[in-house]
Amino acid sequence: MTSIVLFGPPGAGKGTQATRITQSTGLPQVSTGDMLRAAVKKGTPTGIAAKQFMDAGQLVPDSIIIDLIKERVKEPDAANGLMFDGFPRTVPQAEALANITEVTHVIAIEVPDSKIVERICGRYSCSSCGAVFHDKFNPTSTKGICDECGSGELKRRADDNETTVKQRLNAYHQQTSPLADWYENRGIFHRIDGDREIDNITQDILLALK
Ligand SMILES: [Zn+2]
Repeated sequence: MTSIVLFGPPGAGKGTQATRITQSTGLPQVSTGDMLRAAVKKGTPTGIAAKQFMDAGQLVPDSIIIDLIKERVKEPDAANGLMFDGFPRTVPQAEALANITEVTHVIAIEVPDSKIVERICGRYSCSSCGAVFHDKFNPTSTKGICDECGSGELKRRADDNETTVKQRLNAYHQQTSPLADWYENRGIFHRIDGDREIDNITQDILLALK
């Protein structure tokens, strides 16, 4: 059995790699958000409990998330393991997860903060068709005009600015460093250099999973 926890800061390409890991290993991707939505929709006892907090605009407590994971690991498609994305976020959550299922690999995609800032802050998109461009890596061929649909409505997201991105990265590092230590002590933590070609990153992740 292989059960993976996937870490990566915003803008590190975690979503792309998660899709590829799922394709290569067949392990279902599990995010707490998806599990919550599914449980609420199905109306399971845990889902009903979770909905009360969600409706009140409150964070769903760990105990409910843990119950959801307990239910999730029993589903038939989880027989060979799961890939957890966005969970655990704290050491107590990691301890709880260890009591439910054995995590065999923790994959951390690492990209220097300065590169993340460059990746995220250079992004802009077309308001008409949604095409995404980048100042440095993928600029429009004519300045200010969308290559896909010819619209002149190109926009940047307000939270894609340097100050906000740095705040998000600091929060990410503060949150993940105790977890990284915790998993490193258990000898299952794999740091993957995410500042390379997408294929090379995937290759290294699959190697780490062997
Ligand atoms: Zn467009």
